[in-house]
Amino acid sequence: MSLTDKASEILVRVADECGRSNAVLRCDRDTCVAGTALADGPWGVALSFAESARAHTDRSLRDFAKRLADVPGRNAARGIFAGSQGRLAAQMAANGKQSEEITANPANSTKPGDLMDGEIGEHWGRLCLGHPPFTQSLDWRRVDARSATGLAHGRLGAIACIASSLESDELEQLIVAHAPLDRYGWCNGSAGTAVAAHIAWAATGTRNFAEMAEKEISKSLRAIPLETDGLCHGSAGVLVVASGIARATNNSELLSVTKNMAEMCWAENNRPLRLNKGFLLDQSWLTGSTGIAWALSVVERRPLINPLCPLDSEYQMAAPITQS
Ligand SMILES: [Zn+2]
Repeated sequence: MSLTDKASEILVRVADECGRSNAVLRCDRDTCVAGTALADGPWGVALSFAESARAHTDRSLRDFAKRLADVPGRNAARGIFAGSQGRLAAQMAANGKQSEEITANPANSTKPGDLMDGEIGEHWGRLCLGHPPFTQSLDWRRVDARSATGLAHGRLGAIACIASSLESDELEQLIVAHAPLDRYGWCNGSAGTAVAAHIAWAATGTRNFAEMAEKEISKSLRAIPLETDGLCHGSAGVLVVASGIARATNNSELLSVTKNMAEMCWAENNRPLRLNKGFLLDQSWLTGSTGIAWALSVVERRPLINPLCPLDSEYQMAAPITQS
């Protein structure tokens, strides 16, 4: 059974549990997603179904993805995880085509905030959707990182967004200075540092960053199982980033280790990703079970759009990455 088969098995169960219809669309049951955005609502579930639909001929997966991606937004946020860019991402994945529509310069945003729900989230979303961030209006110092660190909650996300406007030396110093220690997840740890280094490599072509990305993601892989199983700060997020870095660096050994790890996570007797026996997680994308299904697909194949590791996406034109 391939990883993509396992992913769709999870999703078919999610669909069944939600009655394949309005329960998910309305998100009004405890067993279904509770939020309104990509991270916690129908658009993230749509992304998972759309990715699975690519590997299977079952049209119901894609139809489900399209319906969920079209659920209207219910808040004013604009970023990819918490706002309207998340719907664009879901629609791109569900309809299989690039979106022309994109949010304007986030400089007018009143909330500096982090990658999840602030101004940086909009720049990050542009990156994920294949449009360059507005580097001139972005200042990583505006991100208040006193109480949290890492790619999503600290300053690394902002630094990654302006990578193309910095010299390699300065960029390396900033990443090293803001890389979290002794944490391993995507949002808060070395997996996120690996993503920042990956973006820095694409922006500068400097080989050091590719080596940094491989080193940081290896730390995270060794730390599995993490505190939780999902994408955000859990094991599934590490697997997503590891496969992306492996593809970008043509590191077949890293890719093979990552696939084995994903298999192991699924296996009956040694399974940090508790997938088979009921859902201990909710069904949301960023921290729940549909995100784990998405991760299994992503380990197997580069996704259409990747909000965790933006350049590991079918839509990206990552020319510098293939050159060095
Ligand atoms: Zn997290």
